[in-house]
Amino acid sequence: MTANILTAKQIAEGIRNSLKNKRGNFPKITLASCVMGDNEAVRSYCASQKKWADTLSVEYREIVMDSNTSEKEAIGIIEDLNNDASVNGIVLHKPFLEGWNEHLLFESVKREKDIEGLNPYNLGELFFGNPLFIPPTVLSVLELLKSISIDLYGKNVVIVGFSNILGKPLSIILADKFATVSITHIGTFEASKLPFYLRNADIIITAVGKPHLIKGQWIKDGAVVIDVGIAKLNNKITGDVEFKEALKHVSCITPVPGGVGALTVAFLFSNLFKAAGMQKR
Ligand code: NAD
Repeated sequence: MTANILTAKQIAEGIRNSLKNKRGNFPKITLASCVMGDNEAVRSYCASQKKWADTLSVEYREIVMDSNTSEKEAIGIIEDLNNDASVNGIVLHKPFLEGWNEHLLFESVKREKDIEGLNPYNLGELFFGNPLFIPPTVLSVLELLKSISIDLYGKNVVIVGFSNILGKPLSIILADKFATVSITHIGTFEASKLPFYLRNADIIITAVGKPHLIKGQWIKDGAVVIDVGIAKLNNKITGDVEFKEALKHVSCITPVPGGVGALTVAFLFSNLFKAAGMQKR
C-alpha cells in the first residue's frame, strides 16, 4: 500500500494568505504571549509565533514571568491584559510554574481574548457545539482530516492522550460527528491495552510526546494516523509513531515535523483575527 504523507505547509500558507487579506480591516492587532519560566519547547513555539506575527504585521507582546512572580501577580498581569483594549488575544504557555493552578489561570483569561480556547467557559461551550474558540491543535487535526475528505460517521477513532488542549475537546467534537471515539492514555498503556485499541482504529490521533510509542505493527492496514506528539530522540524532533514501520500499513500519516505542528500556529492566528473581529463589533 502506498501511504499518503499529509504535510501541512500548504494548508498553513493558505491560512496565512487569507489572514493577510483580512489584515487591512484592522488598524492594529496585538497578541500577548505569557511565558512562565524557561523551556526549550516554549521558546521554539514563541519564535514561530513571532515569525507569523511579523509576516502579518501583528504586534507580538511577550510577557515573561519567573519564579519571582507569584500566582496572584500572574493573575493580576492577565487581568491587566484583559482590560487593555489594545490586546486582542492572550496565550498562556504551559508548563506553568510549580504549584500554580491551571484552572484558575485559564479561567482568568477573558473569554473574548481566549484564543487558545482553554477558558473553562469556552471548553464548556464545546458540549453545546458552540464555543467562541476551539483550541488551535484541535482545529489543526480537524483540518487535516477534512483535507483527505474522510467521512467520520461510524468510524473507529482512537485518541491517545487525554489533555485539555487536545484529547478531551477533540473527543467531544468527533463524537458529535458520530465517530466512535475511544480515549486512551497512560492507564491504557500500563494495562498493556494500547495495541488492542489501535488494531481496531480507522483513525489514530496521538498526542503524548513519547517517541515511537505507537508501533507500526499495531496499526490496521489502511488506517489514517495524525501524530501530534513532539519530542526529541537522538537530538531529532520525533513524533509518537514509529513512522517508517507505520508507512507499511497506513493510508495517510502526518510527519513530525511538518505535520500538525506547522498548522497549530496558523490556527492560533486565525483565532486571533476572529477575536479582533469580535472586539471590533
Ligand atoms: P500532557 O502531558 O498534558 O498529556 C499527555 C497525555 O499522554 C496524558 O493524557 C497521558 O495520560 C498520556 N500518556 C502519557 N504516557 C503515555 C503512554 N505511555 N501511553 C499512552 N498515553 C500516555 O501533554 P500535552 O500538552 O497534551 O502534549 C502532548 C504532546 O503533544 C507533547 O509531545 C507536545 O509537545 C505535543 N503537542 C504538539 C502540538 C502541535 O502543535 N503539534 C501542540 C500541543 C502539544
